Amino acid sequence: MIAAEDIMFTCEDIRQFYYCKRIVYYRYVLKARVQPTYKMKKGQDKHSEYVSREDLQGKNLFKGIRLESQELGLRGEIDLVQIDANDAKIIELKHGKVKKRNMFDSHKAQLAAQAMLIEKVMGLKVKSIEVLDIVNNSRNEIRITEYHREMVSKALNEMRKIVLEEIFPDPPENRGKCIDCEYRRFCYGDLSDI
Ligand code: SF4
Repeated sequence: MIAAEDIMFTCEDIRQFYYCKRIVYYRYVLKARVQPTYKMKKGQDKHSEYVSREDLQGKNLFKGIRLESQELGLRGEIDLVQIDANDAKIIELKHGKVKKRNMFDSHKAQLAAQAMLIEKVMGLKVKSIEVLDIVNNSRNEIRITEYHREMVSKALNEMRKIVLEEIFPDPPENRGKCIDCEYRRFCYGDLSDI
C-alpha cells in the first residue's frame, strides 16, 4: 500500500488542483496519460525554444533547475533562477501578456511552490518572482504572500487524501473550464455533454 510520504506532486499539480481536483485523481489514481491539446503543444514548443537560447545562461542565471523535496512531497522544474549570494529570483516564462492583477491565485500558488522548493532544497531566500512574457518581452513582478504558501500546503494535504483514499472529486462549478481541459474525454467521452 502506498504511504503518504511516498507521494510526490509537481508544482504544476498545485495549479491543476485549483483548476479542477479531478485532474489529480486522473493523474495519480488512474495514472492516466493524455496528449496535450493543440494550444498547450504550441505553448510548450515556444517555451522549449526560448529556454534553449544560449544567451540565457549567465554567471548568476540558471535555467531548467530540477528540484525535489521528500519532506515537502514536491518536485518541479523551474524555468530560470537568478542567484545573488543567498537570495534567489524566480523568472517564470509565459507566452502572452500576464498582468499581475489578473494572475490567478492558482498560478501564484504554483510559483509559491517553486519558491518553497528553492528555499527548502537550495537554502536560499526567494526575494522576488518575475513573469517574463516571451512573446512581447515584457516583465511583471509578482507578489507571493503567505496566503499562496498556505494554498500550497492545503493543496498537498488534499491531493494526498485524494490519492490515498481514491476519492473522485466533483467537477468545478465553472464547467467552462472543461472545454479546454485535456482530461475532458475521461469526464464526458465527447464534448456533447459539456
Ligand atoms: S473535463 Fe472538467 S471536470 Fe473533467 S477534469 Fe477537466 S475540468 Fe475537471
